Amino acid sequence: MVRRGSRAIAYIALGSNLNQPYQRLCQALNYIRWHVGEIRGLSDVVVSSPWDGSRQPPYFNLVAEVETLLTPMALLAMLQDIEKEMGRPVARPRWSARPIDLDILLYGEEVILLSALRVPHPGLYWRPFVLVPLLQVAPDLKDPVTGVPLKYFPGNNRDVLRTVVRASSLWTELRRSGQPERLGSSFSSPLFGES
Ligand code: AMP
Repeated sequence: MVRRGSRAIAYIALGSNLNQPYQRLCQALNYIRWHVGEIRGLSDVVVSSPWDGSRQPPYFNLVAEVETLLTPMALLAMLQDIEKEMGRPVARPRWSARPIDLDILLYGEEVILLSALRVPHPGLYWRPFVLVPLLQVAPDLKDPVTGVPLKYFPGNNRDVLRTVVRASSLWTELRRSGQPERLGSSFSSPLFGES
């Protein structure tokens, strides 16, 4: 049974650069809606080249604001279940191409420094494909560590990004989608009982 916490606002980064990335992002949002909590905000979808300069297909990214009852560790476990369900190999080279990547950027104002979970996500401050969509959803967010508004960090640079799908289209797509496939059999949904 997945442990419940009190209600919290979490910001989740979604990324994909394989197997029809836009469809994968929509699919992951639908899983999040059913298994993590209510989606309260969505950014546009932005496209950028792999930040490490490798010869991978371009990355599609967006950020979702989600109200969740899951604790941070339960949220991480759930996102990893969704990644697995969507075909992300368990063993893979770090920063390899992927059908879906789900990261916790912020969880309320919590600061978490565990080996399995770091919040705020360390890449948040300098990766434009994360910080720009995050600020689109919540422009006044502050870094929970220092209190400095996130808009002042170097990742707030949209020059390297291209907007390909507006958030309004994502909302339409999400409203159209029904209940997703069950997650793996070892899994039980904290929101909707046993899956
Ligand atoms: P990646 O391949 O970049 O998705 O990294 C996955 C690993 O990062 C997993 O082993 C997670 O336990 C770890 N991790 C640490 N902090 C976070 C976070 N804020 N969100 C998601 N994964 C995290």
